Amino acid sequence: MPDIEIPCVQCKDIFIFSEKDQEIFYQRNMMQPQRCAKCRSKKAAQREDAPKRFEIVCDHCGRHDTVPFQPKVGRSVLCKDCHEASRSRARHA
Ligand SMILES: [Zn+2]
Ligand SMILES: [Zn+2]
Repeated sequence: MPDIEIPCVQCKDIFIFSEKDQEIFYQRNMMQPQRCAKCRSKKAAQREDAPKRFEIVCDHCGRHDTVPFQPKVGRSVLCKDCHEASRSRARHA
């Protein structure tokens, strides 16, 4: 099997679907790739970079907010505003 040139569906660049890659793909019964390696790795990186947000209810004002960490059960959680307020209070105390 010769190498195949495939236009990337995302950036329209032509990339090489090499003979070796084709073998691997056909062995696994996979469709030929539609995106170049660059776009594929970008896509994977995006998935990992997507920030996980956890919904919380603020202990102080009862507002719903999201935080970038998993709140611990039984520990009080504060929304962004209250958190900052409590931090600046601590600084001035
Ligand atoms: Zn691409
Ligand atoms: Zn609050």
